[in-house]
Amino acid sequence: MDNVKQKAFDFIDNHHEEMMSLWEKLVSIESGSLNKRGIDAVAEEIKNQLDGIGASTTIISMDKAGNMLTSLSGKVKAAPVLILGHMDTVFADGTLKNQPFIVKEGKAYGPGILDMKGGIVIALYVMKALHYAGYAVRPVKLILAGDEEIGHRNSDAAKRIIEEASGAVAAFNCETGFLDNGIVVQRKGSAVFKMDVTGIAVHAGNEPEKGRSAILEIAHKVIAIQNLTDWKKGTTFNVGVISGGTVVNAVPGQASIQIDVRYVEPDYLDHICEQIENIANKKYVSDTTTTLTQLAGFSPMKHTAENDALFEVVKKTYAELQLAAPYAKIVGGGSDSAYAVIAGVPAVCAMGVKGGKNHSPQEFAVVDTLFERAKILAACIINRDTCL
Ligand SMILES: [Zn+2]
Repeated sequence: MDNVKQKAFDFIDNHHEEMMSLWEKLVSIESGSLNKRGIDAVAEEIKNQLDGIGASTTIISMDKAGNMLTSLSGKVKAAPVLILGHMDTVFADGTLKNQPFIVKEGKAYGPGILDMKGGIVIALYVMKALHYAGYAVRPVKLILAGDEEIGHRNSDAAKRIIEEASGAVAAFNCETGFLDNGIVVQRKGSAVFKMDVTGIAVHAGNEPEKGRSAILEIAHKVIAIQNLTDWKKGTTFNVGVISGGTVVNAVPGQASIQIDVRYVEPDYLDHICEQIENIANKKYVSDTTTTLTQLAGFSPMKHTAENDALFEVVKKTYAELQLAAPYAKIVGGGSDSAYAVIAGVPAVCAMGVKGGKNHSPQEFAVVDTLFERAKILAACIINRDTCL
């Protein structure tokens, strides 16, 4: 094994305790997507960590969302390798009180332990390890968003990731690692809509003929929307939330639904919007009105030959470390890897600490994989220029 790689591995082996205490520190700063103060505090802590290796870090202020962070480590003039991730979590403020950071039987728990405070620890220690090992083939650039879990709906982070990523040779996203050793090469995009229907509310016994049921209107719309699902193209429509009416003896004057759409190709989105608009505009019950709102969404991470080639580097690295082979995984959930691919940068995702029960109170991470994945990522960055 080459000297730089061995030194990077030694660095990681010698810093297990530090990595664990940073993990605890980051998990103990609550940073739910709407907690700007918490997310910004996580960004400051990361900047402090990277100041120690002389990286040049920029915190991009966001007015209505958590700040974003970019950091460049290494002085060599070459196109950078990217490490991607996010600093926000899905967990509301106060979660920490009942679910503090703990380690039990080889598993770590706490809000965002897996998604993706563990991934941030890996990213930072890979940057440190490569710095101290004297890696100087390319600069390593870290891009961390502050509002990934809500699809960057209150910021221009998606656009900025594309700008910041462009010109890089590869992107490794330290998102949630899968227990089955899948490394993600493709993700579906998502679009979320809300439909509100107003009818005419009247007493159900006294003058039902004057009523216009918003629930009946929306029931027709639900079926029409679900029927748009195209399994062949991989486009799925799911009405996941429904509400309406007030009391049983009134014709309901109000009803609403929320719709989650998943799709494969970035240019499907226009067509999807058109399909949903057509159903919103169609009147099944006369005198009802419908308003349509598009909420958060994620572009798809497109499956490219370049992503597959980068996955081969990951696979060779696993073999080199004598670890069980990973496989190329395709998933339905979005991530910022989408924007790296849009920028023309090959990407692989889910390179972070491995665990399960993502986004639930039982979310956990397997402690040993924090160190294992750090070594894998450090070696992948080095191998990117020797394998290809
Ligand atoms: Zn995540």
